[in-house]
Amino acid sequence: MQRQTTKQKESGAVASKQRTPTNHAAHSTKNRWKYKGGFDRARLPNVSNYYETQGLALKGKGAWRDAACPFHTDTKPSLRVRLETGAFKCMVCGAHGGDVLAFHQQRYGLSFKQAAQQLGAWRVA
Ligand SMILES: [Zn+2]
Repeated sequence: MQRQTTKQKESGAVASKQRTPTNHAAHSTKNRWKYKGGFDRARLPNVSNYYETQGLALKGKGAWRDAACPFHTDTKPSLRVRLETGAFKCMVCGAHGGDVLAFHQQRYGLSFKQAAQQLGAWRVA
């Protein structure tokens, strides 16, 4: 959610900078985004599918599920995973993040872009 807000602000700032006669062409942010490539949140994998492929058995019912934490040697399910967003938080070691992308980055030590690419959420220009 925070990221979206930032994105909106950014595109707003860009638009206000380009008050030129060619305003119309410059304004087609849709096309620019299309050709530029980059992160596409809509392409992130399904949350429960993703965690399953990561070997995490999500247990319980409701919005938050429990799983064994892969960030420390977990003897019981200490990791809480939010199905709706993919957010996770470990009650023991403190590992946490807001989505499956953050999880992937942390687990494999990847940059934002590398993780997005591996998850198929990086659009090629
Ligand atoms: Zn942990």
